[in-house]
Amino acid sequence: MQATIGSDILYAKQLLIAGELVAIPTETVYGLAANALDAESVANIFIAKDRPHFDPLIVHVKSVEAINDYVIDIPQWAEKLAAEFMPGPLTLVLKKKDCIPDIVTSGFATVGIRIPKHPLIHELLAKLDFPLAAPSANPFGYISPTSAQHVYDQLNGKIPYIIDGGVCSVGIESTIVGEVDEKPVILRLGGTAPEDIWKIIGKCEVRTNSSSNPINPGSLEHHYAPKHKLVFGEMNFSGYDVNEIGIISFQKEYADIPKEQQYILSPSADLREAAQKIFSAMRSLDGMDIKIIFAEHFPDVGLGRAINDRLKRASA
Ligand code: AMP
Ligand code: MG
Repeated sequence: MQATIGSDILYAKQLLIAGELVAIPTETVYGLAANALDAESVANIFIAKDRPHFDPLIVHVKSVEAINDYVIDIPQWAEKLAAEFMPGPLTLVLKKKDCIPDIVTSGFATVGIRIPKHPLIHELLAKLDFPLAAPSANPFGYISPTSAQHVYDQLNGKIPYIIDGGVCSVGIESTIVGEVDEKPVILRLGGTAPEDIWKIIGKCEVRTNSSSNPINPGSLEHHYAPKHKLVFGEMNFSGYDVNEIGIISFQKEYADIPKEQQYILSPSADLREAAQKIFSAMRSLDGMDIKIIFAEHFPDVGLGRAINDRLKRASA
C-alpha cells in the first residue's frame, strides 16, 4: 500500500469512516488515527505500529464539551486544566464510558483524552461523528515523527494517507495528568510545563519513570530510541574519532566536532524551541554515518524536563 501525502480532509474522512488509518498532524507530533469507537479500526493501529496491546491510546476529541460523551466524571482539577490548556498539548486520564472499546484503553477503566490544536485536525474532527484514537505515527519504540516526511519514511506501505500539516509546533508529546488516590498526578512529562499546571491546580506529584507502574503503562524506560547509541548528559568524547560523533546541544557549539554533525537546538536558550527540534535532530543524526550521539542535559525547568525525559529514555 503506497502512502499518499496530501491535505484532502474529505478523503481522510472517507478513509476513517471505512475503518482505515490516516496519519494526522498535531501540534505535538504526528499521530496515526483511527475511529476510536470502532475496535476493529483501532486494532489496525497496533498492527501498523507493532505496538504492544498493554500500551493504551489517547483519544482525540473536538471540544471540551465533547469530553463528556466519553468520560463518566470530570473532577474539578481536570475541569480547571481543560479550561486553561485545551486545545493544547495536555492529555487528561479520566474514567471512561462504555462507548470507548477496551482495546483503546488496554482494558483500563480510564481513557486518555486530548484536544489537539492544529487547524487541519480541527477541521477533520468537526466533520466526523466519532473521536480519533491516535498514538504517534512511528514504529513502536522509535523516535516520534514531527513532519509528514518522517511518517512516510517509516510507515509507507502500511497506511494509505498522510495529512501534511507542516512541522509540528510543539514537537514533543502531550503532558499526561491522571488521578491517583483522588489526587491529580503528572504521569508523563510533555508539551505543557508542570510549572504551568501547578499554577492552576497547585503543586502535584510527577510520577513518570516506572515501566511497571500500572497507572502509566506506556512509560517504558527504553523508548524514543535512535538506532545509534545515545549518551545522555556526559559530553566526554574520548575513545571516538570526531567523525564518529553526533551532538545534541542546547546552545553551545563543540569546537572539534564537524558542524554538520551538531544540532544546536536553541542558541537563544529557548526551551520551547529546543523541544520543537529535539526529535528531528535525533532522527537526522540517526540517519548519518556516525557511531554515537552525545546529548547534553538540558535545564530541568519548563519544557526542559520533558526534553531530558525523552533523552534519558533514548539513552536507556
Ligand atoms: P502516545 O504514545 O502519545 O500515544 O500516548 C499514549 C500514552 O498515554 C500511553 O503510553 C500511556 O502512558 C498514556 N495513557 C493513555 N491512556 C491511558 C490510561 N487510560 N491510563 C494511563 N495512561 C494512559
Ligand atoms: Mg509514541
